[in-house]
Amino acid sequence: MINVSKLKKGIVIDHIKANHGYKIFKQLGLDRIDDTVVLMRNVDSRKMGKKDLIKIETDVHLNLDVLGLIDPDVTINYVENGELVRKVRLELPLEVTGILTCRNPRCITNQEHVEDIRFRLVDPETKEYACEYCEARTHL
Ligand SMILES: [Zn+2]
Repeated sequence: MINVSKLKKGIVIDHIKANHGYKIFKQLGLDRIDDTVVLMRNVDSRKMGKKDLIKIETDVHLNLDVLGLIDPDVTINYVENGELVRKVRLELPLEVTGILTCRNPRCITNQEHVEDIRFRLVDPETKEYACEYCEARTHL
């Protein structure tokens, strides 16, 4: 159980695989937030051995697709007035838009500027996604 009593309003991203914290921190753009954000690495966890944890002391919109893509096993805890008000578990998104880029050098998206390319999940085991334009497979 995480101690959220000191957190008045904010979000705790818990059960991040050890060493994934920084990646999530960067991908979510948390380095651009003006409020306090704490990245804790290698926290002891009964369930996981070691884990990373991120505390965001503000109410921000998190891109859950990005999170699900990097680490579908994380838990997101929303805190208000020092109390846990909502807990969200993630899943690997079936579709992501504007997050991945195509690895096929001959794909149109690498010839021209294409925004918000859509990728659909083709293999949950390997977390592989297929490009909507050329069907080439890629992963994060
Ligand atoms: Zn492509």
